[in-house]
Amino acid sequence: FKINMEELKLLEELGKGQYGTVQKVYHKPTMVTMAMKETRLELDQSKLNSILMELDVLHKSQSPYIVDFYGAFFIETCVYYCMEFMDAGSLDKLYQIGVPEDVLSVITLSMVRGLKFLKDELAIIHRDVKPTNVLVNSEGEVKLCDFGVSGQLVQSMAKTHIGCQSYMAPERISQGKTYTVQSDVWSLGLSIVETAEGSYPYPPEKYNSVFAQLDAIVGSPPPPLPGTYSEDARDFVALCLLKDARARPTYAALLEHPFLTNHKESEVDMKGWAVKAMEARIAREEEAKKQTQSSSA
Ligand code: ATP
Ligand code: MG
Repeated sequence: FKINMEELKLLEELGKGQYGTVQKVYHKPTMVTMAMKETRLELDQSKLNSILMELDVLHKSQSPYIVDFYGAFFIETCVYYCMEFMDAGSLDKLYQIGVPEDVLSVITLSMVRGLKFLKDELAIIHRDVKPTNVLVNSEGEVKLCDFGVSGQLVQSMAKTHIGCQSYMAPERISQGKTYTVQSDVWSLGLSIVETAEGSYPYPPEKYNSVFAQLDAIVGSPPPPLPGTYSEDARDFVALCLLKDARARPTYAALLEHPFLTNHKESEVDMKGWAVKAMEARIAREEEAKKQTQSSSA
């Protein structure tokens, strides 16, 4: 089905990224709550149409590890992308309560399955694996979003500048190599370390400039998982973060790794963790709201 703005009731803002805003919306005809991402692009009508056509493949394929796509439309030069609303939020807003090894294992398993699905079923590489693009719901499900489905969209959003948190693989920084599956594997490894550590592994305040930070990504030994995690978990991450891109494991190999096979998925209380993490996130957000209210009063 097709979605248009008139059918949507706009609810609260869920977050802001480099390219636009994500808003919670209610689709009246189907009574489904969705997340709508608005991206401002300076493109002509024909390019916008080709983006919509490229996004259409998402209607034909579904995976439990990929956020559902409901439809897209554009108004003037903004693309509006409607997807499944994930009530717990993205990983970067959840890991603050701590992530036990079994939970980390299932999060990683979901991410690898999602990435493998994109590659095998849609022949696409994600290109933007990072905690803000890993979403969780209160059922404890973990799904990926914001992958590069549309070549046209990827091109028109081509990063003009890199933020202060780079998940770019070393070979892309130092040799300007184009994206490959192996670069996604690096970003996966870095995202796991961040999730376990509770913060981005190359903190900008530790470096004098973005150059020094990128230099560290290329030249220093990769960040390890904290010592509180098992040898298997640490080995898994070290393999993803190998500096030599060709030496990094394939998704099939990662799925066989003991870090993923040693935990029985059905016995891990993902729902319990997700609900606790979501409650802590909401409490933090309310606290922050109170702070801004009292300081502006
Ligand atoms: P960047 O622009 O660098 O990719 P980002 O991923 O944080 O960063 P957006 O993709 O615009 O930026 O998303 C903004 C925020 O909205 C995310 O951090 C996430 O917390 C939230 N969000 C995105 N999609 C959903 C969704 N489907 N359900 C719930 N929350 C979402
Ligand atoms: Mg995103």
